[in-house]
Amino acid sequence: MRPEELIDHDLHVHTTLSACCSDPQATPENILARAAQQGLRTIAFTDHLWDGACPGASSWYKPQDVDHVLQIRKQIPPETGDVRALVGCESEYAGNGKVGLSPKTKSLFDWVLLPMSHLHMRGFVLPDGVTESTDIAALMVHRFQEVLDLNLADGIAHPFLPCGHLDRADEILGFIPDHDFRACFDRAAEHTVSIEITTAFFPSTRGQKADGLHDETFLRILSLAKQCGCVFHLASDAHSLKGIGQVHKLAPFLGELGLQRDDFAPILDQQE
Ligand SMILES: [Zn+2]
Ligand SMILES: [Zn+2]
Repeated sequence: MRPEELIDHDLHVHTTLSACCSDPQATPENILARAAQQGLRTIAFTDHLWDGACPGASSWYKPQDVDHVLQIRKQIPPETGDVRALVGCESEYAGNGKVGLSPKTKSLFDWVLLPMSHLHMRGFVLPDGVTESTDIAALMVHRFQEVLDLNLADGIAHPFLPCGHLDRADEILGFIPDHDFRACFDRAAEHTVSIEITTAFFPSTRGQKADGLHDETFLRILSLAKQCGCVFHLASDAHSLKGIGQVHKLAPFLGELGLQRDDFAPILDQQE
């Protein structure tokens, strides 16, 4: 199968319901229309969520509770044409068991993403004292495994992408040996937790020149995930309407990784 044929979904899309979305055009209706034009058949809306029933929300997360995020149910048009719309969320894991989603709330969503690397949230996700690249690397390995233990995630949002520290991402990720990645990905494969392949892994897809992150870095990591038998999903992490369709830029990387249809998350089998 040609890589381009595998690019028929985007399972990480934000709408105007996310506080960090500044594009008033990023409504479910517009996103689904653009997805259809772009040849995508499944879209997962994954706005940021912190369930009010879970203690410890940051002030940024607090308004983005379950009622807020589920407003999307009313916003998705009753007829979505050829595009399947999944009601999802991107919740949060802040370490020490502090998570923005409960098992009860999980059942309200078709697709739950948990990130383990929103390390730009210093003092909330990233502990104040952690600054060295080696310590950030070790923290991510630990957090990845903790997130799996929570048993809440269908997929991991941008796994191991050190948000807020992309200027030294190559260096940070270079401190994680293959056997640590394998330990993480073996468990993800065992639990069928999907590994996200986001355009953010590959600066070239975004037309960015990022000295601290090169395309090869995540090719290494994703090939380890594939060797471990993980399943994958594609993501733009779009926060604007024009971000819909950016997943097509992943084609060369999917080719390089040798991915096939059965390497993708089971939720995508239902799109026939
Ligand atoms: Zn994220
Ligand atoms: Zn996101």
